[in-house]
Amino acid sequence: MELQISAIKNGTVIDHLPTDTALKVVEILDLKNFRETVTVAFNLTSNSLGKKGIVKVACRTLTKEELEKISLIAPGATINIIEDFKVKEKKEVPEPKEINGIVKCNNSRCITNSEKVEIKFLNESDSHGRKYRCIYCEKVIKYTDIILK
Ligand SMILES: [Zn+2]
Repeated sequence: MELQISAIKNGTVIDHLPTDTALKVVEILDLKNFRETVTVAFNLTSNSLGKKGIVKVACRTLTKEELEKISLIAPGATINIIEDFKVKEKKEVPEPKEINGIVKCNNSRCITNSEKVEIKFLNESDSHGRKYRCIYCEKVIKYTDIILK
């Protein structure tokens, strides 16, 4: 039997998070300063992920930018929009093909860290893992090293 952790009436449930990203999502959504109910769980048993994390936020939807940030750290997570205790919409977070503006380049000498230019990274993932390349300095960063702005 599945344990129902505080079902929410209206809001958003972010499910199938790699377990170590649940707290990162809390940070991205700035939920420490949020007034409505927030439920965070990690190390839940998952058939597909082994362990997973879940974040439930009452009375809140996600902005495009927040979704983009989540897609960077947790592609494959599912976003459930809850209305009146029912799942109104369910979608999987895609892995981004490119990243625009929401991260910092890890190369301190990169022009994007000293001048006002639009940051852009392209997806360079291969069989060795997920990574992104800065179009200005060509630095390739692993997704685990991504610095969100
Ligand atoms: Zn760069």
